[in-house]
Amino acid sequence: MATVGIIGAGQLGQMLGIAGRHLGIDCVFLDPAENPPARGVGEVIRLPFDSAEGLAQLAERCDVVTYEFENVPVDALSKLPADLPVYPPPAALRNAQDRLMEKTLFCSLDIPVPGFRAVDSVADLEAAAGVLGLPLVLKTRRLGYDGKGQQVVRGTHEMGDAIAALGGKQLIAEQWVAFDREVSAIGARSVSGEIAWYPLTENVHAGGILSTSRAPADAEALEDVARAYLERLLERLDYVGVLALELFVTGGRLLANEFAPRVHNSGHWTIEGSRTSQFENHLRAILDMPLGDTGMQGQAGMVNLIGRIPANRVPFEGRNRHLHDYGKEPRPGRKLGHVTVVTRDPHERDRVLKELANHLNS
Ligand code: AMP
Repeated sequence: MATVGIIGAGQLGQMLGIAGRHLGIDCVFLDPAENPPARGVGEVIRLPFDSAEGLAQLAERCDVVTYEFENVPVDALSKLPADLPVYPPPAALRNAQDRLMEKTLFCSLDIPVPGFRAVDSVADLEAAAGVLGLPLVLKTRRLGYDGKGQQVVRGTHEMGDAIAALGGKQLIAEQWVAFDREVSAIGARSVSGEIAWYPLTENVHAGGILSTSRAPADAEALEDVARAYLERLLERLDYVGVLALELFVTGGRLLANEFAPRVHNSGHWTIEGSRTSQFENHLRAILDMPLGDTGMQGQAGMVNLIGRIPANRVPFEGRNRHLHDYGKEPRPGRKLGHVTVVTRDPHERDRVLKELANHLNS
Protein backbone atom coordinates (compact mmCIF):
# COMPACT_ATOMS: atom_id res chain seq x y z
CA MET A 1 0.00 0.00 0.00
CA ALA A 2 1.36 3.41 -0.94
CA THR A 3 1.72 6.09 1.71
CA VAL A 4 1.37 9.75 0.85
CA GLY A 5 3.04 12.36 3.05
CA ILE A 6 1.03 15.58 3.25
CA ILE A 7 2.41 18.88 4.53
CA GLY A 8 -0.52 20.45 6.35
CA ALA A 9 -3.35 18.66 8.12
CA GLY A 10 -6.20 21.13 7.59
CA GLN A 11 -9.52 20.39 5.94
CA LEU A 12 -7.92 19.85 2.54
CA GLY A 13 -5.64 17.26 4.12
CA GLN A 14 -8.67 15.73 5.82
CA MET A 15 -10.52 15.38 2.50
CA LEU A 16 -7.39 13.98 0.81
CA GLY A 17 -7.12 11.45 3.64
CA ILE A 18 -10.75 10.38 3.22
CA ALA A 19 -10.22 9.96 -0.54
CA GLY A 20 -7.07 7.97 0.22
CA ARG A 21 -9.01 5.51 2.34
CA HIS A 22 -11.27 4.67 -0.61
CA LEU A 23 -8.19 4.00 -2.72
CA GLY A 24 -6.41 1.97 -0.05
CA ILE A 25 -3.78 4.71 0.35
CA ASP A 26 -2.44 5.77 3.74
CA CYS A 27 -1.82 9.44 4.44
CA VAL A 28 0.58 10.81 7.04
CA PHE A 29 0.60 14.52 7.85
CA LEU A 30 3.07 17.14 9.08
CA ASP A 31 1.41 19.94 11.04
CA PRO A 32 2.23 21.63 14.35
CA ALA A 33 -1.45 22.35 15.18
CA GLU A 34 -2.85 20.67 18.26
CA ASN A 35 -6.10 19.36 16.84
CA PRO A 36 -5.93 19.65 13.05
CA PRO A 37 -8.92 18.50 10.97
CA ALA A 38 -6.95 15.62 9.38
CA ARG A 39 -6.17 14.01 12.74
CA GLY A 40 -8.92 11.44 12.24
CA VAL A 41 -7.71 10.20 8.86
CA GLY A 42 -4.03 9.55 9.41
CA GLU A 43 -1.06 9.99 11.69
CA VAL A 44 -0.05 13.61 12.29
CA ILE A 45 3.62 14.41 12.98
CA ARG A 46 3.22 17.42 15.25
CA LEU A 47 6.20 19.52 14.20
CA PRO A 48 6.53 22.76 12.20
CA PHE A 49 6.22 22.60 8.41
CA ASP A 50 9.88 23.53 7.94
CA SER A 51 11.32 21.42 10.76
CA ALA A 52 14.18 19.21 9.54
CA GLU A 53 13.17 16.59 12.11
CA GLY A 54 9.52 16.69 11.02
CA LEU A 55 10.36 16.48 7.33
CA ALA A 56 12.76 13.59 8.01
CA GLN A 57 10.02 11.72 9.90
CA LEU A 58 7.55 12.39 7.09
CA ALA A 59 10.05 11.23 4.46
CA GLU A 60 10.73 8.02 6.36
CA ARG A 61 7.08 7.07 6.35
CA CYS A 62 5.98 7.90 2.80
CA ASP A 63 6.51 7.19 -0.90
CA VAL A 64 5.62 10.63 -2.21
CA VAL A 65 5.12 14.07 -0.63
CA THR A 66 2.42 16.61 -1.42
CA TYR A 67 1.07 19.70 0.37
CA GLU A 68 -2.34 21.16 1.06
CA PHE A 69 -1.59 24.88 1.27
CA GLU A 70 0.51 27.14 -0.92
CA ASN A 71 2.43 28.96 1.77
CA VAL A 72 4.64 25.92 2.47
CA PRO A 73 8.19 27.32 2.65
CA VAL A 74 9.82 26.23 -0.63
CA ASP A 75 13.14 25.86 1.22
CA ALA A 76 11.54 23.27 3.49
CA LEU A 77 10.94 21.01 0.50
CA SER A 78 14.64 21.02 -0.29
CA LYS A 79 15.24 19.41 3.12
CA LEU A 80 13.50 16.28 1.84
CA PRO A 81 15.63 13.46 0.41
CA ALA A 82 16.46 14.14 -3.25
CA ASP A 83 15.03 10.78 -4.38
CA LEU A 84 11.63 11.36 -2.75
CA PRO A 85 9.13 12.73 -5.29
CA VAL A 86 7.44 16.01 -4.29
CA TYR A 87 4.29 16.95 -6.21
CA PRO A 88 3.12 19.49 -7.32
CA PRO A 89 6.66 20.48 -8.35
CA PRO A 90 8.25 23.15 -6.13
CA ALA A 91 8.54 25.48 -9.18
CA ALA A 92 4.74 25.68 -9.23
CA LEU A 93 4.74 26.57 -5.55
CA ARG A 94 7.38 29.27 -6.09
CA ASN A 95 5.31 30.89 -8.85
CA ALA A 96 2.07 30.71 -6.89
CA GLN A 97 3.66 32.26 -3.80
CA ASP A 98 4.56 35.51 -5.51
CA ARG A 99 1.79 37.38 -7.31
CA LEU A 100 4.28 39.24 -9.47
CA MET A 101 5.97 36.03 -10.67
CA GLU A 102 2.55 34.44 -11.13
CA LYS A 103 1.21 37.25 -13.32
CA THR A 104 4.47 37.32 -15.28
CA LEU A 105 4.12 33.57 -15.87
CA PHE A 106 0.53 34.02 -17.11
CA CYS A 107 1.73 36.72 -19.53
CA SER A 108 4.48 34.47 -20.87
CA LEU A 109 1.80 31.86 -21.64
CA ASP A 110 -0.50 34.38 -23.37
CA ILE A 111 -3.04 34.01 -20.59
CA PRO A 112 -4.67 37.45 -20.26
CA VAL A 113 -4.47 39.14 -16.83
CA PRO A 114 -5.63 42.44 -15.37
CA GLY A 115 -2.98 45.15 -15.82
CA PHE A 116 -0.43 45.10 -12.99
CA ARG A 117 2.69 46.87 -11.72
CA ALA A 118 5.21 46.09 -8.97
CA VAL A 119 4.97 48.63 -6.13
CA ASP A 120 7.55 49.37 -3.45
CA SER A 121 6.73 53.01 -2.68
CA VAL A 122 4.07 55.71 -2.94
CA ALA A 123 5.83 57.02 -6.06
CA ASP A 124 5.51 53.57 -7.67
CA LEU A 125 1.83 53.46 -6.74
CA GLU A 126 1.18 56.90 -8.20
CA ALA A 127 2.88 55.82 -11.41
CA ALA A 128 0.89 52.56 -11.42
CA ALA A 129 -2.38 54.48 -10.96
CA GLY A 130 -1.43 56.61 -13.97
CA VAL A 131 -1.30 53.48 -16.11
CA LEU A 132 -3.91 51.22 -14.49
CA GLY A 133 -6.39 53.89 -13.43
CA LEU A 134 -8.31 54.14 -10.16
CA PRO A 135 -9.68 52.37 -8.27
CA LEU A 136 -7.03 49.69 -8.18
CA VAL A 137 -6.30 46.78 -5.91
CA LEU A 138 -3.05 46.81 -3.96
CA LYS A 139 -1.92 43.39 -2.77
CA THR A 140 1.06 41.93 -0.96
CA ARG A 141 3.12 39.91 -3.41
CA ARG A 142 3.48 37.07 -0.93
CA LEU A 143 1.47 35.33 1.78
CA GLY A 144 -1.95 36.72 0.92
CA TYR A 145 -5.00 34.45 1.05
CA ASP A 146 -8.77 34.70 1.36
CA GLY A 147 -8.68 38.41 0.60
CA LYS A 148 -6.08 39.10 3.32
CA GLY A 149 -3.20 41.34 2.33
CA GLN A 150 -5.26 43.51 -0.02
CA GLN A 151 -6.52 47.08 -0.11
CA VAL A 152 -8.69 48.81 -2.65
CA VAL A 153 -7.20 52.22 -3.44
CA ARG A 154 -9.80 54.69 -4.69
CA GLY A 155 -7.84 57.93 -4.68
CA THR A 156 -4.38 59.43 -4.29
CA HIS A 157 -5.16 60.38 -0.67
CA GLU A 158 -5.50 56.67 0.25
CA MET A 159 -2.16 55.58 -1.17
CA GLY A 160 0.13 56.18 1.82
CA ASP A 161 -2.17 54.40 4.27
CA ALA A 162 -2.77 51.46 1.91
CA ILE A 163 0.94 50.92 1.40
CA ALA A 164 1.65 51.20 5.13
CA ALA A 165 -1.18 48.77 5.95
CA LEU A 166 0.41 46.19 3.65
CA GLY A 167 3.91 46.45 5.04
CA GLY A 168 5.41 49.18 2.84
CA LYS A 169 6.95 47.20 0.00
CA GLN A 170 6.96 44.01 -2.08
CA LEU A 171 3.47 44.88 -3.30
CA ILE A 172 1.61 44.60 -6.57
CA ALA A 173 -0.98 47.02 -7.93
CA GLU A 174 -3.67 45.45 -10.07
CA GLN A 175 -6.21 47.05 -12.32
CA TRP A 176 -9.66 46.96 -10.76
CA VAL A 177 -11.77 44.46 -12.71
CA ALA A 178 -15.50 45.18 -12.69
CA PHE A 179 -16.09 41.53 -13.41
CA ASP A 180 -19.41 40.00 -14.42
CA ARG A 181 -18.58 36.89 -12.45
CA GLU A 182 -15.72 34.70 -11.24
CA VAL A 183 -15.00 31.16 -12.35
CA SER A 184 -12.35 28.56 -11.62
CA ALA A 185 -10.88 25.95 -13.91
CA ILE A 186 -9.71 22.86 -12.05
CA GLY A 187 -7.64 20.15 -13.64
CA ALA A 188 -5.30 17.33 -12.76
CA ARG A 189 -2.15 16.15 -14.50
CA SER A 190 -0.51 12.86 -13.63
CA VAL A 191 3.16 11.88 -13.50
CA SER A 192 2.70 10.34 -16.98
CA GLY A 193 1.20 13.58 -18.32
CA GLU A 194 -2.45 12.48 -18.48
CA ILE A 195 -4.77 15.46 -17.99
CA ALA A 196 -8.36 15.57 -16.71
CA TRP A 197 -10.59 18.64 -16.30
CA TYR A 198 -13.66 19.46 -14.31
CA PRO A 199 -16.38 21.63 -15.80
CA LEU A 200 -15.91 25.33 -15.04
CA THR A 201 -17.14 26.35 -11.60
CA GLU A 202 -18.76 29.71 -10.90
CA ASN A 203 -17.73 31.27 -7.60
CA VAL A 204 -19.06 34.07 -5.42
CA HIS A 205 -16.78 35.64 -2.83
CA ALA A 206 -17.74 37.76 0.16
CA GLY A 207 -15.03 39.87 1.76
CA GLY A 208 -12.41 38.03 -0.33
CA ILE A 209 -13.50 34.59 0.98
CA LEU A 210 -15.28 32.05 -1.21
CA SER A 211 -18.91 31.79 -0.14
CA THR A 212 -20.70 29.85 -2.91
CA SER A 213 -19.78 27.71 -5.93
CA ARG A 214 -21.92 26.30 -8.71
CA ALA A 215 -20.98 23.73 -11.32
CA PRO A 216 -21.21 23.50 -14.17
CA ALA A 217 -20.94 27.28 -14.52
CA ASP A 218 -23.38 28.57 -17.09
CA ALA A 219 -20.43 29.46 -19.32
CA GLU A 220 -20.15 26.89 -22.06
CA ALA A 221 -18.67 29.37 -24.52
CA LEU A 222 -15.72 29.90 -22.15
CA GLU A 223 -14.94 26.25 -21.37
CA ASP A 224 -12.51 25.71 -24.26
CA VAL A 225 -10.59 28.92 -23.63
CA ALA A 226 -10.31 28.19 -19.90
CA ARG A 227 -9.12 24.67 -20.62
CA ALA A 228 -6.50 25.92 -23.04
CA TYR A 229 -5.14 28.31 -20.37
CA LEU A 230 -5.15 25.58 -17.75
CA GLU A 231 -3.43 23.14 -20.06
CA ARG A 232 -0.71 25.66 -20.95
CA LEU A 233 -0.04 26.21 -17.27
CA LEU A 234 0.03 22.49 -16.44
CA GLU A 235 2.43 21.76 -19.29
CA ARG A 236 4.77 24.69 -18.65
CA LEU A 237 5.14 23.79 -14.99
CA ASP A 238 5.48 20.07 -15.80
CA TYR A 239 2.77 19.93 -13.21
CA VAL A 240 1.65 16.87 -11.27
CA GLY A 241 -1.50 16.95 -9.11
CA VAL A 242 -4.61 19.13 -9.04
CA LEU A 243 -4.35 22.81 -9.95
CA ALA A 244 -7.06 25.47 -9.74
CA LEU A 245 -6.95 28.54 -11.96
CA GLU A 246 -9.13 31.43 -10.80
CA LEU A 247 -10.46 33.71 -13.52
CA PHE A 248 -12.58 36.82 -13.86
CA VAL A 249 -15.24 36.87 -16.57
CA THR A 250 -15.61 40.32 -18.03
CA GLY A 251 -17.44 41.17 -21.24
CA GLY A 252 -17.22 37.55 -22.41
CA ARG A 253 -13.45 37.41 -21.82
CA LEU A 254 -11.43 35.59 -19.21
CA LEU A 255 -8.70 37.27 -17.16
CA ALA A 256 -6.56 35.13 -14.87
CA ASN A 257 -6.41 36.23 -11.24
CA GLU A 258 -4.31 33.52 -9.63
CA PHE A 259 -3.67 29.81 -9.45
CA ALA A 260 -3.51 27.44 -6.52
CA PRO A 261 -1.08 24.51 -6.78
CA ARG A 262 -3.36 22.22 -4.80
CA VAL A 263 -6.87 20.96 -4.33
CA HIS A 264 -9.16 23.96 -4.05
CA ASN A 265 -12.19 25.12 -2.11
CA SER A 266 -14.08 25.81 -5.35
CA GLY A 267 -13.72 22.09 -6.17
CA HIS A 268 -15.27 20.75 -2.96
CA TRP A 269 -18.48 20.04 -4.84
CA THR A 270 -16.62 17.29 -6.74
CA ILE A 271 -16.86 14.98 -3.70
CA GLU A 272 -20.54 14.35 -4.37
CA GLY A 273 -21.02 16.14 -7.70
CA SER A 274 -18.41 14.37 -9.80
CA ARG A 275 -17.72 10.71 -10.49
CA THR A 276 -14.19 11.26 -9.16
CA SER A 277 -13.46 13.99 -6.64
CA GLN A 278 -10.57 16.44 -6.98
CA PHE A 279 -9.08 14.80 -3.87
CA GLU A 280 -9.08 11.34 -5.38
CA ASN A 281 -7.70 12.66 -8.66
CA HIS A 282 -4.92 14.51 -6.85
CA LEU A 283 -3.84 11.25 -5.22
CA ARG A 284 -4.19 9.35 -8.49
CA ALA A 285 -2.12 11.99 -10.29
CA ILE A 286 0.78 12.01 -7.82
CA LEU A 287 0.85 8.20 -7.61
CA ASP A 288 0.74 7.95 -11.42
CA MET A 289 -2.51 6.03 -11.45
CA PRO A 290 -4.96 6.56 -14.33
CA LEU A 291 -7.07 9.64 -13.59
CA GLY A 292 -10.71 9.09 -12.68
CA ASP A 293 -13.77 10.14 -14.68
CA THR A 294 -14.57 13.81 -14.03
CA GLY A 295 -18.11 13.56 -15.40
CA MET A 296 -20.80 15.23 -13.33
CA GLN A 297 -23.38 13.44 -11.22
CA GLY A 298 -25.91 16.26 -11.49
CA GLN A 299 -26.04 20.00 -10.93
CA ALA A 300 -23.71 20.82 -8.08
CA GLY A 301 -23.44 23.69 -5.64
CA MET A 302 -21.51 24.42 -2.48
CA VAL A 303 -21.80 26.89 0.36
CA ASN A 304 -19.00 27.49 2.81
CA LEU A 305 -19.71 27.59 6.52
CA ILE A 306 -17.59 30.49 7.70
CA GLY A 307 -17.10 31.70 11.27
CA ARG A 308 -19.90 29.59 12.77
CA ILE A 309 -22.04 26.59 12.02
CA PRO A 310 -25.65 27.32 13.01
CA ALA A 311 -26.92 25.15 15.88
CA ASN A 312 -29.88 24.07 13.76
CA ARG A 313 -28.29 21.75 11.22
CA VAL A 314 -31.54 20.37 9.84
CA PRO A 315 -31.46 22.50 6.65
CA PHE A 316 -28.00 21.07 5.91
CA GLU A 317 -29.07 17.48 6.25
CA GLY A 318 -31.97 17.15 3.83
CA ARG A 319 -32.11 15.16 0.66
CA ASN A 320 -29.50 16.21 -1.94
CA ARG A 321 -27.45 18.01 0.74
CA HIS A 322 -24.17 16.90 2.24
CA LEU A 323 -22.69 18.54 5.31
CA HIS A 324 -18.93 18.50 5.85
CA ASP A 325 -17.91 19.66 9.31
CA TYR A 326 -14.13 20.05 9.54
CA GLY A 327 -14.18 19.84 13.35
CA LYS A 328 -12.49 23.23 13.80
CA GLU A 329 -12.93 25.73 16.62
CA PRO A 330 -15.21 28.58 15.47
CA ARG A 331 -13.44 31.87 14.80
CA PRO A 332 -14.58 34.86 12.70
CA GLY A 333 -13.65 34.41 9.04
CA ARG A 334 -12.55 30.79 9.56
CA LYS A 335 -13.72 28.08 7.17
CA LEU A 336 -15.42 25.54 9.45
CA GLY A 337 -17.20 23.36 6.93
CA HIS A 338 -19.22 23.32 3.75
CA VAL A 339 -22.46 21.94 2.40
CA THR A 340 -22.69 20.44 -1.07
CA VAL A 341 -25.95 20.33 -2.99
CA VAL A 342 -26.45 17.98 -5.93
CA THR A 343 -29.71 18.02 -7.86
CA ARG A 344 -30.93 17.06 -11.31
CA ASP A 345 -32.29 20.47 -12.08
CA PRO A 346 -30.21 23.69 -11.92
CA HIS A 347 -33.19 25.73 -10.67
CA GLU A 348 -33.71 23.32 -7.81
CA ARG A 349 -30.00 23.54 -6.96
CA ASP A 350 -30.17 27.34 -6.94
CA ARG A 351 -33.31 27.24 -4.80
CA VAL A 352 -31.58 25.02 -2.22
CA LEU A 353 -28.44 27.21 -2.25
CA LYS A 354 -30.63 30.22 -1.56
CA GLU A 355 -32.38 28.41 1.27
CA LEU A 356 -29.01 27.52 2.78
CA ALA A 357 -27.72 31.08 2.43
CA ASN A 358 -30.87 32.37 4.18
CA HIS A 359 -30.35 29.89 6.98
CA LEU A 360 -26.73 30.99 7.39
CA ASN A 361 -27.82 34.62 7.62
CA SER A 362 -30.70 33.98 10.01
P1 AMP B 1 -7.38 36.98 -4.46
O1 AMP B 1 -6.80 36.81 -3.09
O2 AMP B 1 -6.47 37.62 -5.42
O3 AMP B 1 -7.98 35.71 -4.96
O4 AMP B 1 -8.62 37.97 -4.29
C1 AMP B 1 -9.78 37.63 -3.53
C2 AMP B 1 -10.99 38.21 -4.22
O5 AMP B 1 -10.88 39.64 -4.28
C3 AMP B 1 -11.18 37.76 -5.66
O6 AMP B 1 -11.78 36.51 -5.74
C4 AMP B 1 -12.05 38.89 -6.19
O7 AMP B 1 -13.39 38.72 -5.77
C5 AMP B 1 -11.46 40.12 -5.51
N1 AMP B 1 -10.40 40.70 -6.37
C6 AMP B 1 -9.10 40.34 -6.39
N2 AMP B 1 -8.41 41.01 -7.33
C7 AMP B 1 -9.29 41.84 -7.94
C8 AMP B 1 -9.19 42.78 -9.00
N3 AMP B 1 -8.02 43.04 -9.61
N4 AMP B 1 -10.33 43.44 -9.37
C9 AMP B 1 -11.51 43.20 -8.74
N5 AMP B 1 -11.66 42.31 -7.72
C10 AMP B 1 -10.57 41.64 -7.31
